[in-house]
Amino acid sequence: MSQKDHHHLNEITQAEKIAQGDYRGTVFLPRTNFPMRGNLPTQEPKRLKQWEAEKLDQRIKEAGRQRKTVFTLHDGPPYANGRIHIGHALNKVMKDVINRAQRMSGKEVRYIPGWDCHGLPIEWKVEEENRKKKKEDVKDDILGFRAQCRDYAKHWVSVQEADFKRVGVQAEWQNRYVTMDYRYESGIAKEIGAFLLSGRLYRGLKPVMWSPVERTALAEAEIEYHDVKSRTLFVAFPIKQDPTHGKLKNVSAVMWTTTPWTVPLNRALAYNPELEYCVIEAKEVTESSLVPVNSRLLLAKELVEDFVKKAQISKYRQVSEILGADLEGATAYHPFSSHVLGKDLPNGEVFYNGERPFLGGDFVTAEAGTGVVHMAPAHGDDDFRLCISHGIKITEDVLDNGLYADHVSGLSGVHVFKAADPVCDLLNESREHYEGKAPAGLMAEEEILHSYPHSWRSKKPIIFRATPQWFIAMDGHETPEGGAAGSLRDKALDALEEVTFLPASSRRRLTSMLAGRPDWCISRQRTWGVPIAIFVEKKTNKLLRDAEVMQRIVDVFAQEGADAWYQPDMAKRFLGEKYNPEDYEPVFDVVDVWFESGCMPGLVLQDAQGKRQEGLNFPADLILEGSDQHRGWFQSTLLECLESWDIAPSKTILTQGFVLDGKGRKMSKSLGNVVSPIDVADEMGADILRFWVVNSDSSEDLRISKEILKQQGEMYRRIRNSLRWILGGLEGFDEKEIVPFEKLPSLERYILHRLRQIHQKITLAAGTEKMSATHDWRDVFNEIYNFCNLDLSAFYFDIRKDVLYCDGQQEHIRQSVRTLLDILHRALTTWLAPALVFTAEEAWTVRFGESKDSDGKASSVHLETFYEPAHQNGTYLWDDTALAANWERIRELRGMITTELEGLRTSGEIRSSLEASVLLTLSEEDQNLLSSEDWQDICIVSRLKLTQGEKFSANVEKASGEKCARCWKVLEDVGQNEQYSDLCPRCVAVVKTYLEEMPS
Ligand SMILES: [Zn+2]
Repeated sequence: MSQKDHHHLNEITQAEKIAQGDYRGTVFLPRTNFPMRGNLPTQEPKRLKQWEAEKLDQRIKEAGRQRKTVFTLHDGPPYANGRIHIGHALNKVMKDVINRAQRMSGKEVRYIPGWDCHGLPIEWKVEEENRKKKKEDVKDDILGFRAQCRDYAKHWVSVQEADFKRVGVQAEWQNRYVTMDYRYESGIAKEIGAFLLSGRLYRGLKPVMWSPVERTALAEAEIEYHDVKSRTLFVAFPIKQDPTHGKLKNVSAVMWTTTPWTVPLNRALAYNPELEYCVIEAKEVTESSLVPVNSRLLLAKELVEDFVKKAQISKYRQVSEILGADLEGATAYHPFSSHVLGKDLPNGEVFYNGERPFLGGDFVTAEAGTGVVHMAPAHGDDDFRLCISHGIKITEDVLDNGLYADHVSGLSGVHVFKAADPVCDLLNESREHYEGKAPAGLMAEEEILHSYPHSWRSKKPIIFRATPQWFIAMDGHETPEGGAAGSLRDKALDALEEVTFLPASSRRRLTSMLAGRPDWCISRQRTWGVPIAIFVEKKTNKLLRDAEVMQRIVDVFAQEGADAWYQPDMAKRFLGEKYNPEDYEPVFDVVDVWFESGCMPGLVLQDAQGKRQEGLNFPADLILEGSDQHRGWFQSTLLECLESWDIAPSKTILTQGFVLDGKGRKMSKSLGNVVSPIDVADEMGADILRFWVVNSDSSEDLRISKEILKQQGEMYRRIRNSLRWILGGLEGFDEKEIVPFEKLPSLERYILHRLRQIHQKITLAAGTEKMSATHDWRDVFNEIYNFCNLDLSAFYFDIRKDVLYCDGQQEHIRQSVRTLLDILHRALTTWLAPALVFTAEEAWTVRFGESKDSDGKASSVHLETFYEPAHQNGTYLWDDTALAANWERIRELRGMITTELEGLRTSGEIRSSLEASVLLTLSEEDQNLLSSEDWQDICIVSRLKLTQGEKFSANVEKASGEKCARCWKVLEDVGQNEQYSDLCPRCVAVVKTYLEEMPS
């Protein structure tokens, strides 16, 4: 049978069916290839392959070239170590949504993704692998070890790239930056050089975790904790300067320490300005107490009870109360000072005699001790930060083998772990010698069991110890030429005034951290990284600041990578003819990875010569990272861009919170609550994950769980159903059907007004020339979801189903509905495309998939711009607030009528609203809203009569008449036509036209 015959046969059958009263073929039921179920886990990978085959990324890039405005989001690099986790997915998907939305708003957007590749976690993994393979000596072969680390990072870069692609992230993957590429290693060395030449780079001391047994610095990952018994001391420091006008006269501050060996190295006392302190006087003590009777002691009020018990003070009185903040300006004598001991210890004049200032620090708590914390800046993090921010010099008082240095009076040559006894002897001596109400020295001691850090390798305890490190000066300093350089801190704070913060509250967070930060320590004693490639003159300990040498290093690194620094004879090669390699010591510390990623905006957004790159803005328009970056990358990138390019890296900083589980707990393997983004994509679809991202309030910490994802899946299904309804209703749509806006019915114009409201939110989120972007896409997608669910599914679609299925194809109202569906399709698919990348493409291509561009390539929604409502001179045709207000009232009344209909249905009198007839009484005001015919359609009933009355009422009853076999309305004029006695007049006309137009 030929195709034509087959067609013919069908037609006969159809006509026969109509004659037999089967009108199903004449009803215009929706038809579409867009299935109800997305089957995303199978369909998405296919779509990715198709995009790759069609070279979509490249076509997106080419399409962008013709655009006037450029938008650039600079990618802060994730660390190339392991599969992507949910935090990565949140960050990259949000970046992707913003990039796509900016592109679809008509801008050129190039997104260059990047990775951090150097640093300890990779070194650690490689070392672990080597241990397993019993290749422990590999680390001595530095170049071999670096090569292993490079391979390891390379592997994970490619794994993560595939993971990011799977969750729909679009980027210039071919142009990706990795910090270990030679170009970037060279750029990092150049950036270090910039700080060297400006004079901001200097060598200073900083406490690191140090193993006296192995004589080396250890990283956090090389530490394990063991419970040990430690002797802890309560020590009195007699107060000298009293800023309280008398309250501290003849009073000593009591501090508590768990490391007796640090007492000689005390440089200050810390208090919390917000804590309440008090002075107590010991009235009676037990025989074995060390506290002299009548001693006046300062400590935190909350800790008094605990202290008097430990110090065996049996009776005391409180003399006065002092707020921590009032201690500012106080000073005290060290118990080993000549003022207290009445003699100088050998060299003691220099070492112990200076006054110890009281410094405010919010890390001080009333949890244990006395609320007065003893500060040994060379031997603790908090101590170090607080002391250097007050200009206290750090000295090297403990040698690498754990012995006190010669200048530590009275204790030189003693090992710190054996120092408790001699320190206590001296403290007892000072107590006994220093008489009066303000005591000095040891007040009490006890033994505690606590968890203490040990070396992972030697299993021996470690100490915090100041070691030489490389720093960048945050404040003014002398330039190499002897001039004065301005403060980098001030420059950074000034630059931030021009930067937009989203949310606005994060501005204070960054500026206060920046204002309070110490000098930046950029060195690490590690192997896998970019060396701080500089030389120190052996004789003078001065840095070699020679631009020519620096340039030579930068050039070689660009060709051979930073490995060149580890080659034999490197000194000779880099120093050149001008210097004798014998006179110089190369530095083999590597630079902090934050420093590396901080260079990237200047290197990625510009070419190697520092020129602007086509299609990229520098400064970038946006950086977007987790809120932990206030401490890290937001600062490093700002400081470096200012040093080298004199600009901030980005015009806007957007921060995201952390992802917690459904109960608000951190995710961990042991809790079993880890949600892997790739598992979500494989089980539910990447679009569900992406939908979760855009629906979450990421300005604070956010949650994810199976239950939450299930809800997202349900919301997704509703949007998908709306798209399916629209596509079904557009079957065979022809542009000739389009009805001009002025001629559209009021209901369609109302829906267009609602669409325009969504469009307004999109404009706010994406920004315009005059208005900066809020990037608040959550608001947009939430509105789109509500629109699909409430305005379309539960309202518009219900009402217009009859028109769409049963009216004649030439009817104005049916064509109006189809005109709106066409707009809805174009608007919703393009507006959803940045978030639901796969689903929007499916809904687009199912309609326009056949159309090809001039190169014969298939159409894609990702090459489109956002659907733009009709407008003229900035005025949008669809905006009609008066009309919208009317419809809000209509929907309110409709709700009340529907309740009445629901009652009739529950009682079993009718099966559907179409079997009902309504007598509607409306106030005079409400009467003008709609005609009774329109009310009939809006309420989906067969008959509605309108009368005027003071009070609203809707009397519903079973409609009289017959049910039309085609449209199911119950009407009294069903049966008027003899030939079609089971149809209403409208359906008779449609069926007749249908039969006439059937080709014979
Ligand atoms: Zn009918």
